[in-house]
Amino acid sequence: MGRYTGPVCRQCRREGMKLFLKGARCYMAKCPIDQGRPAPGMHGMRRSRKASEYNVQLREKQRLRRQYGMQEGQFHRVFIEALRRPGVTGETMLQIVEMRLDNLVYRLGFASSRRAARQFVMHGHVTVNGRKASIPSMQVRVGSVIEVRDRPKSREMAARSLEAATAQQTPTWLAVNTKTFQGEVLAIPTREQIAPVVDEQAIVELYSR
Ligand code: SF4
Repeated sequence: MGRYTGPVCRQCRREGMKLFLKGARCYMAKCPIDQGRPAPGMHGMRRSRKASEYNVQLREKQRLRRQYGMQEGQFHRVFIEALRRPGVTGETMLQIVEMRLDNLVYRLGFASSRRAARQFVMHGHVTVNGRKASIPSMQVRVGSVIEVRDRPKSREMAARSLEAATAQQTPTWLAVNTKTFQGEVLAIPTREQIAPVVDEQAIVELYSR
């Protein structure tokens, strides 16, 4: 599965908001968004005209997709899956992306960003319920235990991230044991617990066009 390999901060500049794609660096003063850098491209400085409904919906979708580091095809499949499941499609869509293994590794503090978590998983540093798991998009179930493998390199990397993440609180729907490097999924998060920075309903409308 492909992934975006271009300049990361450019994505935040495009969306005009912090998407927290670079871990600790996002909290430093040199973050381009904090410095007020404009959108990329030769028209980035231009004052935008009133955005069309389509444009608003598109931006919401791109924001969410970029936040989770997903490609368009993969993200669209999440929408199709959310449609299939019972419940409110927008909220289900958020729940599906939250239950991805790479996101959970990030939320548990074992990696400093979703991007780093993706690499951490792909390089075989984690297990799910005692079995090696190296697919970042894997859907994790409630009750599953995610553990950083008991290898010096794996644990050192996770320890560094956990140390840096101490200021961030672990979401209430997850439990983490920083001594055993284990995390458990206690429940599927609600929309309020996810608190997305996007209007997911606009994304549903965009894909339903
Ligand atoms: Fe986005 Fe982080 Fe770059 Fe700031 S430092 S623009 S939040 S990726």
